[in-house]
Amino acid sequence: MVLNKTAVITGASGGIGSAIAKRMNSLGYNLVLNYNSNSESLKALVETFENKEVETKIFQADISKFEEAEALMKEAISSFGTVDVLVNNAGITRDKILTMMSEEDFNSVININLNGTFNCIKHVCKKMLKQKSGRIINISSVVGLMGNIGQVNYAASKAGIIGLTKSTAKEMARKNITCNAIAPGFIQTKMTDAMTDAAKEEISKNIPLKRLGKPEEVADLVEFLASEKASYITGQVISVDGGLYM
Ligand code: NAP
Repeated sequence: MVLNKTAVITGASGGIGSAIAKRMNSLGYNLVLNYNSNSESLKALVETFENKEVETKIFQADISKFEEAEALMKEAISSFGTVDVLVNNAGITRDKILTMMSEEDFNSVININLNGTFNCIKHVCKKMLKQKSGRIINISSVVGLMGNIGQVNYAASKAGIIGLTKSTAKEMARKNITCNAIAPGFIQTKMTDAMTDAAKEEISKNIPLKRLGKPEEVADLVEFLASEKASYITGQVISVDGGLYM
């Protein structure tokens, strides 16, 4: 299957990014997959792609750096001519309670999660405006909606992404470009592997659906938001969290 559409996915070497990349490959998108440090797992992922009719490029960039985000988008545009879908998925945590959190802990999370999302949107928005089409999908978090102990940096970055999403949606709607945010709850990836089993059990107790989510369940929503079926949805924050936040 070939769609003749291009999607850029940041942080495609991670758990959720990999699931999104795999899904978009199966749907027939040409892909530009970004990683920062983990080229091996991204190369291994691409090997598993079943749809061989479409092209996939992988591109190293630290998206918190304005020029590197620009290089990523230039690579996508020069390779495929368009960017139809941008999934801003790259993100980190650096958890500590507020009293122990350093300026560096705070700034590094804001720089990657929030500034990185801005940097990627900034370097693709003119192209999308010219195309008069585009889908921007930002991965926020339930923590951006409800806050969390030990995550003032992460919560601030993810809440910032929500404001960025709504403002981008308002600015870009006139040219048929949508921008939405996904707020995953606790999803089984490296990010949550760091938690003890006891902590995961405790969290699951508070989730109405009584389990952590799967990366594929986030990819399901990305698939929908990128599709024609979501053409009248913009500026929304949609949770994939088993009912944790309602
Ligand atoms: P993950 O497995 O740790 O993956 C994180 C990804 O971000 C990796 O691909 C990593 O690349 C990339 N990354 C980190 N810093 C980067 C930078 N400076 N430039 C470019 N890429 C960078 O985490 P995940 O669980 O899949 O999380 C993906 C997104 O979902 C994040 O935004 C996260 O905040 C959000 N989220 C996750 C959960 C959850 O429970 N897992 C819940 C809510 C929201 P390298 O490995 O190549 O360095």
